[in-house]
Amino acid sequence: MARRILRVAFVLLWAPALALGQAPVSYRLSFPEPEHRSMQIRIRFDDLPPGPLELRMSRSSPGRYAVHDFAKNVYDVRFADGRGAALRAIHPRPHEWNVIGHTGSVEVTYRIFGDRVDGTYLAIDGTHAHINAPAALMWARGLEARPVAVRFLPPAGASWRVATQLVPGADPLAYTAPNFQYLMDSPVELSGAALRTFTVRDGPRTPVFRLAVHHTGTDAELDTFTADVERIVGEARQVFGEYPPFEGNSYTFIADYLPWAVGDGMEHRNSSVLTSASSIRSNRLGLLDTVSHEFFHAWNVERIRPRALEPFDFEEANVSGELWFAEGFTSYYGPLILRRAGLTQTADFAAEMTDMVNTVRTSPGRQVRSAEEMSRLAPLVDGAAYVDRANFDNTYVSYYTWGAAIALGLDLTLRDRSNGRVTLDHYMRALWETHGKPGGKAPGYVDNPYTMADLEAALAAVSGDAAFADDFFARYIQGRELVDYERLLARAGFVVQPVSPGQARAGQPIAGPRIAIVPVEQAGREPTADERRFRERWLSSTSRNGS
Ligand SMILES: [Zn+2]
Repeated sequence: MARRILRVAFVLLWAPALALGQAPVSYRLSFPEPEHRSMQIRIRFDDLPPGPLELRMSRSSPGRYAVHDFAKNVYDVRFADGRGAALRAIHPRPHEWNVIGHTGSVEVTYRIFGDRVDGTYLAIDGTHAHINAPAALMWARGLEARPVAVRFLPPAGASWRVATQLVPGADPLAYTAPNFQYLMDSPVELSGAALRTFTVRDGPRTPVFRLAVHHTGTDAELDTFTADVERIVGEARQVFGEYPPFEGNSYTFIADYLPWAVGDGMEHRNSSVLTSASSIRSNRLGLLDTVSHEFFHAWNVERIRPRALEPFDFEEANVSGELWFAEGFTSYYGPLILRRAGLTQTADFAAEMTDMVNTVRTSPGRQVRSAEEMSRLAPLVDGAAYVDRANFDNTYVSYYTWGAAIALGLDLTLRDRSNGRVTLDHYMRALWETHGKPGGKAPGYVDNPYTMADLEAALAAVSGDAAFADDFFARYIQGRELVDYERLLARAGFVVQPVSPGQARAGQPIAGPRIAIVPVEQAGREPTADERRFRERWLSSTSRNGS
């Protein structure tokens, strides 16, 4: 059940307790020259222990795994003590400033340039400031547990409002974060974005969902889009049986659908960033696909989190052999939830499956590395830029696509083995209960992240067959084999057809003819009763069939 409330802003207070003797770190973000794509930042540190203050610009950002060196856009850096007298800093590496000679207080000011609207970087112009925290905010080592205060000073005359998962205060331009990890996880959009809000009942809770959409479309288009998002949000809940306990009881979709944006989506604990150069009018389903993917991450990766990413290291590459699960399974559920929510048709989902299966069965990279090994390449392929050429066409398969194909294979295999009694939804729910639901010692942390062994153990428990789980991981995740998609898909009334003439099976071949997965109706016959039942339990709304 859902209720939509239009154009009503909720202020939900959840003030984090201030740790005694630990002055908050205070940030002030101002915009003297937005037309020059720049932002002015002042940070105040008090109650500092003796010794150098180790200031850092991040080199990595959760969810985009390349090393970025955000320090490249920082300039005009100055340091002062508590009374405004200049302090000196040693600058041993590009992202490090060690401020010396202070007596307990340091104020750092700098300017930063940003001209890329996406989920990873920073963009400032006359219409908005679109901020990914690691790309913009300097921070100090050793102060990670301190609370943080953030104040925004929009350009004179601009009627910018703030959209963020940061904790609101009484002043609409002043926010807080309980600690460093939560601050870094909190993107901010300052603009005249249109706002829509709806609530969904979830047991004892009623979380508030907000859409802040900076776009060139109409109010009517946004109203329709909001209704679509509401269906996705409701259907995603069915997989896990409940929403995560969002900090502040709210979740914010920050969308920039602007001709000068770069297509992207980025997950966070209580928000996501959605960017595209297209519009609701031109690309509604494409934008909804990203909504579905990023919202699924509120469970899978934000709270059901690989141990390798917890806590995130902002100074180094973060390597995880589990991204085939964190990204790949999310890539499977994104379009599946659109289908279950009735936003797409069975043929649309078949086209998604065709892409997944074609990519993994024909990519030469599969001869080189497993899905686990591909995941560990993320820092080299996800947002990385090179001057020289890489040979990834022949040595790499995206862990998004391969992982989605594994999820498809595992979902069908579980359903096939159990006659529909056990599904991938049960597996996701089991992982949620063990690794996500217990939460963390502080907002922004996960206390019980998973390992590869945990994923296999959960599959053994859900399937009731440890030998099956061991074999599945050995062959399809740590090995390079593919499940028999053709046989499994046949159970749901799908056929695998060659796209080019000649024989094709959705099996092991590297390269070879491409295939299309189509419903049997398109191949000239009606599905049998068994096929119809199998397909319905898989692709129809789980709120209706209760699986
Ligand atoms: Zn993702």
